[in-house]
Amino acid sequence: MKRLTLGSRNQHKLEEIRAMFDDFPIELEAMPEEFGDVDEDRDTFRGNAVKKALEYAEKTGGPVLADDSGLVVHALDGAPGVYSARFAGEHANHAANNDLLLKKLAGVPKEKRGAEFVTVMVLADPEGVLLCVEGRLRGEIIESLTGKGGFGYDPLFRVNSEDDSEQRTLAEMNADEKNAISHRGRALRKVQVALPLIL
Ligand code: IMP
Repeated sequence: MKRLTLGSRNQHKLEEIRAMFDDFPIELEAMPEEFGDVDEDRDTFRGNAVKKALEYAEKTGGPVLADDSGLVVHALDGAPGVYSARFAGEHANHAANNDLLLKKLAGVPKEKRGAEFVTVMVLADPEGVLLCVEGRLRGEIIESLTGKGGFGYDPLFRVNSEDDSEQRTLAEMNADEKNAISHRGRALRKVQVALPLIL
């Protein structure tokens, strides 16, 4: 079976990605600890994802799938964006990031609380980038934490469906429901269409 290394150490993300590869004929491998972290110092999701995929592919000598993702809040000019993981400081946890987001949006009315989750996924091998795709999910930031599932900003992110039939936050969905609509799920399905043609 073909092998693919995942260029991430975020356990939640890894679990989501693994679940989506359950029936897929590819063996996913975690990034070996000794390869350390890649400094995510670019100012776009694409820049960081390309950097991670290329650096890890060089280290492993094989194909790597890396992603960079985050929350884009329109009323905050796109923040936290590429700084989503460290919005409230370098080693901030999800609770602190969510707290800061609520503070920054205090007093902002519902119709101006639009946001998007964005993922850019890059497949690379030591010779270069093989594929770059994006996935987005539109929603709005609600005023208090709702739901216990998912991770990160999920309890504050209410999904906007085309017909307004979906009113739950991502944290109120189970893993399959989230993967079916999420930014990461959408990007990953594009990767899965292309993978058999590339690897
Ligand atoms: P990354 O690991 O550099 O891609 O940073 C992603 C950060 O964006 C996470 O630490 C979360 O704060 C946020 N994020 C990305 N995807 C999600 C998601 O599916 N739900 C909630 N937060 C997310």
